[in-house]
Amino acid sequence: MTSDNTPAETAPAAEAPAPTSEPKMFDLQALVNAKTWARNDELPDLKGSKNSNRCIVCNRPMRDDEVTWVHMSTGGDLFPIALGNYDDVNSQGCFPVGNSCKKKIPAAYRDDTLFD
Ligand SMILES: [Zn+2]
Repeated sequence: MTSDNTPAETAPAAEAPAPTSEPKMFDLQALVNAKTWARNDELPDLKGSKNSNRCIVCNRPMRDDEVTWVHMSTGGDLFPIALGNYDDVNSQGCFPVGNSCKKKIPAAYRDDTLFD
């Protein structure tokens, strides 16, 4: 008597989920207050600042060492930093955010060391 040697059924290889083409964005414009922006526009740039950065959320001048960088789309939303694609067709590039405003932006959407 020979045993029935039917090969065990092989499970089909699990398909990896297709990567989503649309990254989850952060709505930066919701943080921007036009009145605050206009008021801070009157503030002079800080003395001794190398490049006179102003926060894109509140428009306050800030020192270079307080800058956090965010990656903005053409629509004004933020790309997740983990995306790492700074050449995205919808990218406007990276912009500075100051110390107090960065607390309103989830860590996944800011890069404290981009230009360090
Ligand atoms: Zn700010």
